Amino acid sequence: MKSEPERAAHRRFVQALQHEHLICTRPDCGGPMDVVDLTVHHAAVKTYQAECERCHAVEHITGKVDTHPSWDIASITLMAEMHLLHDQPVCPFDDTPITFTSMPNPRRKARYRLSCYYCGRHTEMNWPPPEAKR
Ligand SMILES: [Zn+2]
Ligand SMILES: [Zn+2]
Repeated sequence: MKSEPERAAHRRFVQALQHEHLICTRPDCGGPMDVVDLTVHHAAVKTYQAECERCHAVEHITGKVDTHPSWDIASITLMAEMHLLHDQPVCPFDDTPITFTSMPNPRRKARYRLSCYYCGRHTEMNWPPPEAKR
């Protein structure tokens, strides 16, 4: 994430991800946008389509797949600890908020999937993580 257009696109993505209100980027409009999540089931990266309620401009908002290198153990542990502290962990590569999804597990242990829907990096872990036990 280097150029200003890329940073701006990432900001729009995070707003859509967090269900914040998106405002039309046309300078003469500024109308509220209707955001639809078009992500296909189990896709690693989310895709949204926003349409301005006022001028009907359509904007496509999507992540950029980039999964190498993958998260290391230290950053995964940090994400889990922040989640335990009710803080919002972010992907160390692109600062996108991490989504925690609890997974059905046939055994008794809880299991979570940690996903960055911007770059597509994800991992699964048993819960609570063993490192967090006091
Ligand atoms: Zn508009
Ligand atoms: Zn990421």
